[in-house]
Amino acid sequence: MTAVSPIPVSIEFFPPKTPEGVDKLRAVRQQLYALQPEFCSVTFGAGGSTQEGTFNTVRDILAEGVPAASHLSCIGATREGVRGQLATLKAMGVQRLVALRGDLPSGYGAGGEFQYASDLVAFIRAETGDDFHIEVAAYPEIHPQAKSPESDLKAFAAKVRAGANSAITQYFYNSDAYFRFVEDCDALGVQIPVVPGIMPITSSTQLMRFSDACGAELPRWIRLRLQGFGDDTASIKAFGLDVVTDLCEQLRAGGAPSLHFYTMNQSAAVLEICDRLGL
Ligand code: FAD
Repeated sequence: MTAVSPIPVSIEFFPPKTPEGVDKLRAVRQQLYALQPEFCSVTFGAGGSTQEGTFNTVRDILAEGVPAASHLSCIGATREGVRGQLATLKAMGVQRLVALRGDLPSGYGAGGEFQYASDLVAFIRAETGDDFHIEVAAYPEIHPQAKSPESDLKAFAAKVRAGANSAITQYFYNSDAYFRFVEDCDALGVQIPVVPGIMPITSSTQLMRFSDACGAELPRWIRLRLQGFGDDTASIKAFGLDVVTDLCEQLRAGGAPSLHFYTMNQSAAVLEICDRLGL
């Protein structure tokens, strides 16, 4: 039997919109805590739309004795507003942030006092020193609005220079893109841990819609196989578990520092993948 090398995991949730969602997420968290996550993070709607739900969920996780990270996005935000958010998070006992630019829904003017996530990271450092561990986003398959792969890498390096401690990637299904990104960072002297973001495959239409919107490539062979399954959700899930477990194996074998799971507030797929990984 081959020895299983342990790899830490972290998990991500979005803030529920209804009381039923809050209860359901509480139960999902209890199941996922079996994985002993390094931290759980909670997304933050661009423009502050989910601030209350995000902070409440973060508060709940901390009360359950688990380290929690709040995402914070800066598009459309003012310095004064972010200053207030940082004070609230600090008072809550939060020690880790995921600092993002965010995307405003179409129809919103940009406005705001921050242009890029690097501006937010610099502001957090200037305001709060080393109070927070700052995570930033990374894009092994290139951010959809980047002028070029080189400019995107420079934008990533700028976030690190501004004070980011580590990064979580957009999800991907091609491990070569991740390893190449890490190598490119090394070559630039950018050496923070870059944690792969893992999106379990549980539904085909939702994943295709998501991937088109965020610039994550769904490889042709995966897309065609998913299309071929039609409404056969059992086959989609079985295929998804094989593909994503295999991806995680490749990442672990290649030296990824940990795995960050996008749970979509569901536990089954993440638990099954981690079980297959021996975690
Ligand atoms: P940035 O790093 O600012 O980059 C945005 C674009 O600007 C890129 O194309 C980059 O190349 C370019 N750029 C940056 N700096 C410069 C510069 N100086 N000159 C020229 N171009 C530049 N969204 C949410 O709304 N809420 C969330 O909670 C959330 N969580 C996320 C978590 C993770 C791990 C990831 C990967 C993404 C998350 N997102 C979230 C999505 C994210 O907000 C979007 O991908 C957004 O479009 C970019 O955010 P960013 O922080 O990467 O931006």
